[in-house]
Amino acid sequence: MYFSDFGFDDDLMDGIDAMGYETATPVQEQVIPHIIAGRDIIAAAQTGTGKTAAFLLPLLHKLLTGPHDDHSVNAMIIVPTRELAVQITQALEGIAYYTSISFISVYGGTGGALFASERKALETGVDIVICTPGRMISHLNMGYVKLGGLRYLVLDEADRMLDMGFYEDIIKIISYLPGQRQNLLFSATMPPAIRKLANTILVNPAEINIAISKPPEQIAQGVFYVYEPQKIPLVKHILQQKEFASVLVFCSSKLSVRKLYDELKRSRFPVGNIQSDLEQEQREQVLLDFKSKKLKILVATDILSRGIDIEDIDLVINYDVPHDGEDYIHRIGRTARAATKGTAYTFVTDKEQFKFSKIEKLLGKEVPRQQVPEQFGAAPMPGAAADNKPKKKYRKKKFTK
Ligand code: AMP
Repeated sequence: MYFSDFGFDDDLMDGIDAMGYETATPVQEQVIPHIIAGRDIIAAAQTGTGKTAAFLLPLLHKLLTGPHDDHSVNAMIIVPTRELAVQITQALEGIAYYTSISFISVYGGTGGALFASERKALETGVDIVICTPGRMISHLNMGYVKLGGLRYLVLDEADRMLDMGFYEDIIKIISYLPGQRQNLLFSATMPPAIRKLANTILVNPAEINIAISKPPEQIAQGVFYVYEPQKIPLVKHILQQKEFASVLVFCSSKLSVRKLYDELKRSRFPVGNIQSDLEQEQREQVLLDFKSKKLKILVATDILSRGIDIEDIDLVINYDVPHDGEDYIHRIGRTARAATKGTAYTFVTDKEQFKFSKIEKLLGKEVPRQQVPEQFGAAPMPGAAADNKPKKKYRKKKFTK
């Protein structure tokens, strides 16, 4: 599902484009329509699934297009830790860049000057507050926080907040809030204590459970850390090592598909390609030839990763790192179907290491590293670029730290 399908405010869409988001993740697809419709939510979703944007985007949309009180806090996001508060604030800085939405993060361990600027915002009104419970209570105890126009409450990583002993604090904060509001509760797990909290706070919530699918055990996964120019020679090398019956290579762009396809064809591999420039008829023919094994290798964009039933693929190569963990699982799930064994390799350039580390986090394990053959020259080291998260320059916003 594309973000344009949600009918978001134009300025918000500009932020979404600038962040490089194109399609919604599964949790976003399920949660966003409910939030826009005004429902309370209880969502089981882990970090890495896009859950932050799943609540930030509709929240921003509603603040931009719905009723709004300039002299009050309009939305409160309560989180367990300062790190998460910072992370959400950074996401907001990106997504809300082109909007007029103001926000502030409020967490402990900072000095008097920041406390004073927090107080100013809480006293005069700010659209969104992202806070840890203890610090928020310190402000609330002083009696100046304007909450009369608050319409939205988000509890993020609620299970972690309960583990950290914040139950009473949360209830206390909520006692200050207007009764008429929309409540969104996100939690990685759903133990009974979370159910109890949900029963206390939420009204007729929509329940969303994004079960993270795990790749089948019989898929042997491997990762090659490579530089971009090493990719095509490495594909050829892998294809020459063994007689594969059916190989699917996924690329993130149709340009990479064309380039790789042309190179493999020139080297006389039995290869076909599928990407959006082909007519439907051509695509269907390629697919038929691939299914009948006339073509042993198929290079394709993501359009093939979901839903298309091709049996007996013994090798999947992710020529580029997939968009997210779910995509990764869908792509490699094309192999090892019906209890056969399969192999799935992923190429990771230095620029993609951060993205891949997030996928590994979601999988809950490291994918075994494969050595790039010496004849291709030195390859990047894993971890060397692990924090090469894209950095953006943002305009300074009022009240942000
Ligand atoms: P989260 O689960 O909220 O921690 O998000 C994990 C990462 O995915 C963050 O780096 C987000 O910027 C990124 N992300 C969230 N939604 C999307 C999307 N629809 N497309 C691409 N990246 C996304």
